[in-house]
Formats: sequence, structure tokens, C-alpha cells
Amino acid sequence: MKPEQSRELTERLEKAALLLLKLEIFRKPDDLARRFGLPLPVVRYWWRNTDQKTEAIEHRDLTPRQAKTIRRATQVLEGWEKVKRYRPQCGARLANGRRCKHSVVIRSPEGWDQGCLADRCRMHGGLSRRVRKQKVDDDGNNE
Ligand SMILES: [Zn+2]
Repeated sequence: MKPEQSRELTERLEKAALLLLKLEIFRKPDDLARRFGLPLPVVRYWWRNTDQKTEAIEHRDLTPRQAKTIRRATQVLEGWEKVKRYRPQCGARLANGRRCKHSVVIRSPEGWDQGCLADRCRMHGGLSRRVRKQKVDDDGNNE
């Protein structure tokens, strides 16, 4: 996964989470994190960076548009489990000419500002904090 795709995905998750917290679909960041399998510190951090004001809407007062927005946000967050399970392959070139088939790493909470998924597996520097200039597997020189 390219770094920008990873960041986009992370932004989508953040936006969806904040919407559901804002509307008090979930009362606490921790509840939301547990429900969707997201790291607790990440969701707490997202929420702390907002004004943390909520505006609960009674369920019966939801407009169809709001209901749709909520449904969509929920789907985005539900997608996270799938993303975790079917992470892209690392793709680093191995000495035998093949490519590494391990899944890329899910970054630790501190790393999520770079995107939730790294572009490499654990063995090939996925946990490294440095920003890779670009993914180099296409010419295979860097592995
Ligand atoms: Zn690898």
C-alpha cells in the first residue's frame, strides 16, 4: 500500500469515528474503538483533537440524509476489520528473486499520523519510523 493510500484510509476512519462520536452514536471513544477493533489510543487522540462537543439527535428525529451519513460512517469503520485481515503484501524483493508475501504491518498508535498501514512487513522495515522516500520494490535495488 502506498503511503498516501494509507493516509487516506486513516483519514476516512478518523472522519467516520468523529462523526459517530459527535452525534453520540457512541458515547466514548473507547466504546467506538472496541466496537470496530481500532486501537484505543488512536481514537482517544482523534477525539481529543476536536472541540469534543456532541450534539445528540434522537433516533426518530434523524433525517434520511443523516441516517445515511451515519450508516456510511459505520460501514467505513466496519471495513477496518477487513483491512486488517486482508492487508496488502509487503512486496520486498528477496534474494531468490521472489517478493515477500507477508502482510504489511499495522503501525503502532504513535505511527498512525503516517497512515495506519505501513508499506512493508515487520521483517522489511514496516515498523521503522523513518519516512521511506518511495517504495523501491519496482526496481528491486533496495532490498
Ligand atoms: Zn516483507
